[in-house]
Amino acid sequence: MPGLYLHIPFCHQACTYCDFHFSTSKQRGPVLDAMELELVRRSKEVGHAPVGTIYFGGGTPSLLGTERIAAFIQQAHDLFRVERDAEVTLEANPDDITTQRLAEWKAAGITRISLGTQSFRDDRLKWMGRAHDAQQALASIELIANAGFRTWTIDLIYGLPDMTLAEWDEQLTIALDHGMPHLSAYCLTVEARTALAHQVKKGAVHMPGDDAQSAQFDRLMERMGQDGLDHYEISNFGRPGHYARHNTSYWEGTPYLGIGPSAHSFDGTTRRWNVANNAAYVKALKDGTSYWEHETLTPAQRTNERLMTGLRTAKGVEVAALEVDALRINSSAFQRYMSNGDLTLLHGRLALTKAGRHFADRIASDLFVTDDDR
Ligand code: SF4
Repeated sequence: MPGLYLHIPFCHQACTYCDFHFSTSKQRGPVLDAMELELVRRSKEVGHAPVGTIYFGGGTPSLLGTERIAAFIQQAHDLFRVERDAEVTLEANPDDITTQRLAEWKAAGITRISLGTQSFRDDRLKWMGRAHDAQQALASIELIANAGFRTWTIDLIYGLPDMTLAEWDEQLTIALDHGMPHLSAYCLTVEARTALAHQVKKGAVHMPGDDAQSAQFDRLMERMGQDGLDHYEISNFGRPGHYARHNTSYWEGTPYLGIGPSAHSFDGTTRRWNVANNAAYVKALKDGTSYWEHETLTPAQRTNERLMTGLRTAKGVEVAALEVDALRINSSAFQRYMSNGDLTLLHGRLALTKAGRHFADRIASDLFVTDDDR
């Protein structure tokens, strides 16, 4: 159980594109108390397991009081064998960053800050419904860079309506000028039941075509490469020694324990997900009733997950470790992508080429198998 994830389901306000589970309620205590209870209960299931990474995600973990964050970290140390050099990440938004809070988080054991920057432009941030402005985005990066964390990262979003290559270039220049050791860059997608989906449906927002988004992805790869950041996962770029260890465990299919409303867990064969409702979560934890669903993956499902997540990484997928021989079963799709130059097979590992990274999901799904194929 190398990774521990804590989902803090609260935000200051709702961003228009977001489909994560969160609430804007200020009544946070009961959910956080229930999470402490869940940690105790789940720790009994996995024993005094070693933990190499702890990740506070959400939601917006940085809106919690530091004492709550410190208490969760202490509880993790009490219940598990947290490794001495564990990566402990806190997702933070620019409007929550102050010199004092950074110092407190560091003292509490946070080693890595993941900053939800998204854009350095006021008009874009306003359009996205973010709680911070461009000045806060810049100021918070400067504070984080000087706060002495082991590492840090920022998030940016591209593929926005009417975004030009020049605008995207400018965003990347600002980020690189601030010396970030790691970047997560996400292409805006329209998720069902979000305010953005509603605006698109009404015709109030027109999403850009694939060509514009594709050109921005190419520019992203080019700029990060020029600046020495490795493209180690489709959306993630890092300088050597600064890759995200916690997220890497998701991409490599290793077990993790997820705590909190909507959090997912994986033990190697079974996937489990908590109810995405704060009140139902609190009540079930109090009453001792069930608050999760689970699914035991079949060999074909495990194979497909390895393909889906593994192909997103530069290391690719170890073909011999696939439980079902997906390349033999889908030999014509496999051969087509190899001859197109979208896939490479090197030292037994199947990986996407730079060209193939534009179509990662499609290529993976064309290699999917069913249990009947075995
Ligand atoms: S701050 Fe993050 S989790 Fe909260 S609404 Fe915005 S995108 Fe979603």
